[in-house]
Amino acid sequence: MRAAVLHGIGDGEKLDIRDDVTVLGPGPGEIRIRVRAAGVCHSDQSARDGGLPQPVPAVLGHEAAGDVLEVGDGVDDLAPGDRVIVNWLPACGTCAECVRGMPFLCMTHVMAGYAMPRFMAGDLPVFGMAGCGAFAEEMVVPRIGAVQIEPDVPYEVAALVGCGVMTGVGSVVNTAELRPGDTAVVIGCGGVGIAAIQGCRLSGASVIVAVDTVPEKLAVARRFGATHAVAPEALSDLIGEITAGEGFDYAFDVVAVPQTLRTAWTAVRRGGAVVLVGAGRPEHQVEFSPFELLFEGKRIIPSLYGSAYPPRDFPRLIALWRAGRLDLEGMISHRIRLEQVEDALAALGRGDVIRQVIVHDAGA
Ligand SMILES: [Zn+2]
Ligand SMILES: [Zn+2]
Repeated sequence: MRAAVLHGIGDGEKLDIRDDVTVLGPGPGEIRIRVRAAGVCHSDQSARDGGLPQPVPAVLGHEAAGDVLEVGDGVDDLAPGDRVIVNWLPACGTCAECVRGMPFLCMTHVMAGYAMPRFMAGDLPVFGMAGCGAFAEEMVVPRIGAVQIEPDVPYEVAALVGCGVMTGVGSVVNTAELRPGDTAVVIGCGGVGIAAIQGCRLSGASVIVAVDTVPEKLAVARRFGATHAVAPEALSDLIGEITAGEGFDYAFDVVAVPQTLRTAWTAVRRGGAVVLVGAGRPEHQVEFSPFELLFEGKRIIPSLYGSAYPPRDFPRLIALWRAGRLDLEGMISHRIRLEQVEDALAALGRGDVIRQVIVHDAGA
């Protein structure tokens, strides 16, 4: 089958599209999926350029939907032909985090994915990103790494739910638990940021300020529910205008570099919360004084994968989409072929890109 294989880590590393890749398994408790749609996420770029840990060679991609092709021993609640969304952070159910009720902190399967190849390219073992590897025609995941959905949900729509939409909407609904009337700022208006804006709108935020350096993205943000949309330099004036200088209840930092984290901190009111949504780089450092941490009374809340529990949350997101309350079609800015994934990674910051989705041929 065809897959895009990454051989080395670094910004200039190319993805090698090859047809001699095979997927390993499914072993007991695993399923094999025909990938029908895969979104291109910023984390794929971060895995390539070294921002996120990634052993190589590897097949990137973790935001996907497709059909079950084969089930391993012991899997009796899914069958070939079932339509699923990949959950790239499945909870093992038995580790300390799972037992504490924080399944989104479970690293059991992600760590296994760093140690256990998922594919063979000729006679070369190849890892899958986070144990997934959606830039391929097929992939194998643990049973709990897939959530079944109804067969009428389009693959592209379903794929988005698997990472970007879950992360963005979840940061508002699950992590922040934003209440009607709250005010919010969303920094970074790519796919996850647009999903966070939609989450704020769904939750009844009275003010949703979109912040981005790219003017085109600000126009897009307004279309998805932002009440205001500004460049970062204009944010402090807006704080004065809208909140009488007090600051907003929540700031969602989707970009997660030191500068945006400070911007988010400044944007929230005393007692408000910065929600850290993006996956930042391990070498970056952000400075806070103990004085401001105490006296400003602000919180910084991490939101890994939108604090998701996918078996609960994916069907809820699909239900919101069905009800016309969550615009997912509108987030698909480009439908591309697997061969174009390299260009898609390069295009991630561009103003016209919300989500680029790789669509595979229906095939056999
Ligand atoms: Zn992602
Ligand atoms: Zn666990």
